[in-house]
Amino acid sequence: MGPPDAILGVTEAFKRDTNPNKINLGVGAYRDDNGKPYVLPSVLKAEEMVKQKNMDKEYAPISGVPEFCKLTAELAFGPNSEPLKSNCNATVQSISGTGALRLGAAFLQKFFPGNKEIYMPNLTWGNHTNIFTHAGLPQKKYRYYDPKTVGFDFKGALEDLSTIPERSIVLFHACAHNPTGVDPKPEQWKELSKVVLKRHLYPFFDMAYQGFASGDVDRDAFAVRTFIEDGHKIALAQSYAKNMGLYGERAGAFSVLAENSDQAAKVLSQIKILIRPMYSNPPIHGARIVANILGDPSLKQQWLTEVKGMADRIISVRTSLKSLLEKEGSKKNWSHITDQIGMFCFTGLNQQQVERLINEFHIYLTKDGRISMAGVTSKNVGYLAHAVHQVTK
Ligand code: PMP
Repeated sequence: MGPPDAILGVTEAFKRDTNPNKINLGVGAYRDDNGKPYVLPSVLKAEEMVKQKNMDKEYAPISGVPEFCKLTAELAFGPNSEPLKSNCNATVQSISGTGALRLGAAFLQKFFPGNKEIYMPNLTWGNHTNIFTHAGLPQKKYRYYDPKTVGFDFKGALEDLSTIPERSIVLFHACAHNPTGVDPKPEQWKELSKVVLKRHLYPFFDMAYQGFASGDVDRDAFAVRTFIEDGHKIALAQSYAKNMGLYGERAGAFSVLAENSDQAAKVLSQIKILIRPMYSNPPIHGARIVANILGDPSLKQQWLTEVKGMADRIISVRTSLKSLLEKEGSKKNWSHITDQIGMFCFTGLNQQQVERLINEFHIYLTKDGRISMAGVTSKNVGYLAHAVHQVTK
């Protein structure tokens, strides 16, 4: 018997609990203010459009639904961006963000000409470790999260990136860092880009939350676009799980930026050779939903408003949680709750405090003290603030 998954195991424990006050703050899936899963109205409209087209269910090409790939690359890089104008991107549809990372890992494991080690932020999403291990890419860490400030260790990150072996691979979370919710500021991204360029490091961006962090898809693509403008040839993993709520549809993309269109075609051919024995070709339904949303200007506009609605709700529960903790009488500094961004809040609670939240208050979260803000609502935020104060006073 293998151990349960560290994150998905939390939901299993939650389901077994019969207490009426129980809250699941483990898994990173958006909930509305009634704690219910949310299907975006733009997604429902797009599904209707797909249905009306009476399309067949034939296989997609190995690289996925072509229109999906084109629009997805545009969403990341910007419609008039250099890579798209010069056809320098090799973009394939992937099995959501996880599949994009797994493909990227396989591609780099096979073809990366430099130091075949990936440097990941300390901390990072637990599954990153599994994915790169599975592909046989050794991993190391660079400093990222500073427990003392519950913020970004900019100095530590710069120092580490300046000293790791040249021509190594570096993983960045493009926005809404998971699990910490701590992102570099725009000026800090610019500095990071310079160091990465100077040391000939290879940036692999994981962009699982575009639009979900700030509510603005262009703003959340700042890091990716800044690196590209600075001349980096990046690799990129994208996901529509969060920003379109397409979790189970598994719609995502993997891109490599090449030197020119000829090289991009060669890279694409090699990625297809990697995909074929893994899963032959990706699922079509989610990709069709995405292509219908992004390909229709008014539906795209509606989607952008809905993404902003999700991001704004999360930002507002952050503010409530912080102020209710203060009202409870907590003397601790909780400003990191509102400084952090995206789906998760890294509370800084230790393992004993987390265990008390689970056992005494029926509030479920991962052992590292991460809470999914998406599970917090205007109705349960008061109870959560009370419980957090009780275990931290
Ligand atoms: N990267 C990060 C940092 C994530 O948090 C997630 C989702 N938890 C993913 C990638 C991929 O998720 P999915 O495979 O559902 O798109």
